[in-house]
Amino acid sequence: MNLIFLGPPGSGKGTQSSKLADLIGLDVIATGNILRDEIKNSSKLGVIAKSYVEKGDLVPDDLILNIIKNKVKNINSFLLDGFPRNINQAIELERMLSSIEKKIDCVVNFEVPDDILVKRILGRYVCKECKEVYNSFFKDTKQKNICDICGSNQLEKRIDDNEETLRNRMKVFHKSNNELCDFYKKNNLLISINAIENENFIFDKLKKLLKIN
Ligand code: AMP
Repeated sequence: MNLIFLGPPGSGKGTQSSKLADLIGLDVIATGNILRDEIKNSSKLGVIAKSYVEKGDLVPDDLILNIIKNKVKNINSFLLDGFPRNINQAIELERMLSSIEKKIDCVVNFEVPDDILVKRILGRYVCKECKEVYNSFFKDTKQKNICDICGSNQLEKRIDDNEETLRNRMKVFHKSNNELCDFYKKNNLLISINAIENENFIFDKLKKLLKIN
């Protein structure tokens, strides 16, 4: 099964992706995580991407499409988290997949009102090692500064989880998400999920919608 998760920053796509990957063994391709790693490693791609990510703007399509192309051709079942972000990326993805005889089976649109997203993002911090996501308002680590999952003390905020960048990320999201949803609705692939409840409740809903037991 090949899936796409659409939704604003902080809508829980990343959390639900890793839960689903654990359950059914999908490979998650999260373009935001890939870019943040490239930025940390100061790779050629990272150096270019940094200024876009810091401002909350989209990284140029050709760079992103290159990442996706290299990943999807070697994977059986994948979940795209954070891609596509605009209609051009969606069209190029279709073209790329049909050339390797693959297709998208379902697109899930995570819906959360903007005011809830702000608290989720500004409180968010992440384990550098295993990428588990925490939140200082809703879900702190059990032991201060120690990851519950892998025991690492490398907990950090994302470089773009600040108020100013968030405002732009929301603007960028709203600019193209309706168009993306219409694109996938026309192809009968879109399902929407109200994603304001807690993560286990949402995961149960997601499994039902995807007909996974
Ligand atoms: P995310 O972690 O998905 O919220 O992405 C963080 C940032 O990475 C975004 O604000 C963009 O700057 C960049 N980014 C992630 N995915 C894409 C994409 N598909 N196209 C362009 N830029 C992206």
